[in-house]
Order: sequence, then structure tokens, then C-alpha cells
Amino acid sequence: MRFDVLKKEAKTGARLGKITVSHGEINTPIFAPVGTAGIVKTLSKEDLVSLGAEMILCNTYHLFLRPGHELIQRMGGLHKFISWDRPILTDSGGFQVFSLGELRKITEEGVIFQSHLDGGQKHFITPETAIEIQEALGADIIMTFDECIPYPSTFDYAKTSMEMTTRWARRCKERYGQRANGKGHDEKPLAFSLQPSALFGIVQGGFFQDLRKISANDIVNIGFDGYAIGGLSVGETKPQMYETIDTVMPYLPEDKPRYLMGVGTPEDLIEGVMRGADMFDCVMPTRHARNGSLFTSEGIINIKNAPYTEDPEPLDKNCGCYTCRNYSRAYLRHLFMAKEMSVLRFNTIHNLYYYFNLIKNIREAIKEDRLLEFRKEFYKNRRENDEPVSNN
Ligand SMILES: [Zn+2]
Repeated sequence: MRFDVLKKEAKTGARLGKITVSHGEINTPIFAPVGTAGIVKTLSKEDLVSLGAEMILCNTYHLFLRPGHELIQRMGGLHKFISWDRPILTDSGGFQVFSLGELRKITEEGVIFQSHLDGGQKHFITPETAIEIQEALGADIIMTFDECIPYPSTFDYAKTSMEMTTRWARRCKERYGQRANGKGHDEKPLAFSLQPSALFGIVQGGFFQDLRKISANDIVNIGFDGYAIGGLSVGETKPQMYETIDTVMPYLPEDKPRYLMGVGTPEDLIEGVMRGADMFDCVMPTRHARNGSLFTSEGIINIKNAPYTEDPEPLDKNCGCYTCRNYSRAYLRHLFMAKEMSVLRFNTIHNLYYYFNLIKNIREAIKEDRLLEFRKEFYKNRRENDEPVSNN
């Protein structure tokens, strides 16, 4: 993997860059939509390409449980299996093990958990197997195995967990290094050949700034191709999130990509970029779309709301997406109320277009040294109160 910083904004920490991996180039800042089970829900590959998606994130936990990384490997790896020839990032599975797995038992060695899918079946994931699974999938960027602690957590719990996550990161790096020598975990040559992946380390430590500093320092000392700040967007306040980013950023090397995992809202993207973040992923635009919550230049609207029943306007008059060019709010509301499946795709196209367009505008603002002005304008255009987001 290669990373070039192409430009630093004059008045903020924002930067433009380019990551080059075996499946192509990723311009940064980048937002990666989430394709949990190997697909961005409701969309085709052509939809994603025409929206301009440069990279997608797939979830190791879900693919490990179903259909299994060994099957995907036999099918020629994840890119071939899902027919996506642009870059893919896989998470380590840690976040889902801790949020979805049942009856978890965490030990120094790894985590035993019961799958949320097959009921009683027990699985054991260690830092080493997390790397092996991701290497079998063959993504371009893979992540170390970390513990995502609940929010809020006590200082003692956060400290113990952060220290174990650092030891796990070291084991991931060691296991990852073995593959470069053509060796498997048990020293046998691997039965498959792979594209080289880049390995990113993850900084943890909850919202205790002292712990975040120690974690950042230790993870950077181990040495990775890029660095993520994990454990954000877990229920903390915005000031807590931004303070944590501010704390960690100075520790992360300038010449490596910096990734805010699971972040976030449109506001979080702007605030993250301002603070020097290069990469983002989040289920928000796609999940909101399926709930009828749609991002517009003036705020979030909920298409189920009655005032849209006879509204002939597009979702956002400033949007150039396929959905806004073709359909009215009234029609989309009708489809949503009638539970017509196509509306989920139309909504997803719109919300991802909104996110990609936001990133495009952020990149242009960085290029022209006017990110602060862009940010001011962005907040001015958004309504003070978004419509409530629907969760059903
Ligand atoms: Zn649109």
C-alpha cells in the first residue's frame, strides 16, 4: 500500500491524499459505504459505480459466520465472489463480536462467543484467526482485532481493555508478518495465494484522554500501514468524540492514513476531516435510507411524514441523484407506505449520493483552502431541528 498526502489545508488539519492498493486508487478524504454481508443493501455494483463509490467495507464477522471465509476463499476471494473489483476494507470482526455475539467470554487468548445466527454454536476468535480470516477474504485493507468496550465504561475497565487491545495488535502484526513469508499460522505454507493487504492498527481507550494517548503511542510504536481511532460513535456526546479525535491525532504519523471507524453523521465527517482524518465508514446513510430518513441540504427529512403526501418536489432540490431527477416526495412516500421494495433502493441511492457529494465538496474546499467557509455555509443551510429519525 502506498499513501501520498497531496495537499494540506492552510487553516485546518485537513488534507487531500491518495491511497494506492492492488485494486486501485482511493482518494482521501473517503467515505466507504458498508456492505455488511458482501453487498451494500439494495444496490447493484452498477449503482455503486455510478454513485462513485471508491471503496466499500465488508464485515468479517458476518462473512465468517455466513457463508464462511473458507468458502469465499475457494470461490476466488471476496472481490471475485461479490464481483467488486475496486478496493475493499474488512473490519476485524471485533466490533460485531462485542455487539452481536452472545455469551461472550473474553480471555487474553481471544473471545469465545455464540453466533447471533446459528444459536448454540460456539466460535473462538483470536487476534491470529482474525488476521487469517481477513487474509482468506483478501481485502485490500484489513484491521487488527480489538475490544470495543461499552459506553460508558469505568476507567479501570477501559485501561485493562486498552492494554489487552495493544497486546492483541502486536499479535496481529506478528501473524500478518508470517504470511509475507508464505507461512500459515501453524507454519505450513498457505494453501492459497493472495493480493497483498495493508494492515491498520486501532487506537482504543474509551473517552479517557490519558488512555487514548497511551494507546496511540503504543499502537504507533508497533507500526502499521495506517491508523484507526476505534470506539467512537458508541453513544458519547459530540464534544467527547471531537475531544478524543483532537487528543489522538497528534500521535498519528502524518505519512499514514487516519481512519475514524464507524463515523458518522455528515457533521462528523466535516469535523473529522478538519482534525486530519482521511477515512470514514458508517451504516448511517444506508440504514437511514431503509427507515425512510433522508439527508438533504437543509437537514434530515422523514418521508413517512404526512406533509409529503402531495408534495411534488424532489427529496432535495439541490440534489442531482437518480432518485431526485425522477421521483417526487409524494411518489416516494406512497411507495414507502405501500412497502414497495424499490423505494429502499431509491432512498439508498439518494443518501449515498448525498454523502459522496459532501465528500466531493469537502475535497474541493480543501483544495481551495476554504474548508472553514464551507463548514460555516454547511451549518447555515441545515435546519436547526432535523425531523425525528425513524427506527422501524
Ligand atoms: Zn437525491
